[in-house]
Amino acid sequence: MARTPLFRLDGRTALVTGSTRGIGLAAAQALGEQGATVVINGRQAAQVEQVVQEGRALGLDFRAMPFDVGDLAASEQAVDRIAREIGPVDILFANAGIQHREALLDFPQAEFERVIAFNLTAQWAIARQVARTMAERGWGRILFTGSITAVLGRERVTAYTAAKGALHALVRQWSSELTPQGVTINAIAPGYIQTELTQALWQDPQFDGWLRQRTPAGRWGQPQDLAAAVAFLASPEAAFITGQLLVVDGGLTATM
Ligand code: NDP
Repeated sequence: MARTPLFRLDGRTALVTGSTRGIGLAAAQALGEQGATVVINGRQAAQVEQVVQEGRALGLDFRAMPFDVGDLAASEQAVDRIAREIGPVDILFANAGIQHREALLDFPQAEFERVIAFNLTAQWAIARQVARTMAERGWGRILFTGSITAVLGRERVTAYTAAKGALHALVRQWSSELTPQGVTINAIAPGYIQTELTQALWQDPQFDGWLRQRTPAGRWGQPQDLAAAVAFLASPEAAFITGQLLVVDGGLTATM
């Protein structure tokens, strides 16, 4: 019996979209700690560069690639550039997402279409692009960030729920086509995580109290709570896990 270190990602290139803060940043750090070269992304070049420098100071192999994931042409060019300058993407954590909260009966159609275009179509496009080279090379890991609002209903998030629910369905459909090529695809559904995206909620004492009481873990999730799940699903040891939704929510959706 030989000893083998588990979950190592040495020699792999990982692209984490939306990784200058929040869930993406914590996941990028976890992937980097496991040995991957991690491409940091966000729309603001200065912030991307700052995260890269902070990561490198910790000994992580972070690289910068600022682009807007919602700009499909820019996104396609960026993935091509990563392949040329760093290496083909082995691991994609398609994590960047946007939100628009408004009551269903007043929800503007333009906002619905904007959220669907970003949270669904743009994620589909970037994932399909990396899937092509992953399939050619016979190895790949694709992860989407889903949401528990697509597992249990919640008011004021109709477009977001539609897009994230579609991502949950896509991982099952894509797994039927990609898994035979050595590419796994899964989604992670965070519960309520304390980030800039949810700032209005955790600063609202009423919501904050409700959430702590409603969640068996008794607290908000932190970005680090997702990071280990991402690193695990990206690892060679997770090769037999595909087409799945992993809910990371402190027990919220398991209980009434
Ligand atoms: P944050 O707001 O903390 O971080 C968002 C990140 O995405 C930043 O790095 C931001 O950088 C980047 N980003 C935003 N828009 C774009 C874009 N158009 N192109 C590239 N990068 C972009 O968000 P979270 O970490 O909370 O959310 C990450 C994901 O998790 C999202 O998909 C979200 O829907 C999902 N999620 C979050 C939950 C939560 O409770 N927080 C719950 C369920 C799901 P910059 O603005 O500089 O571009």
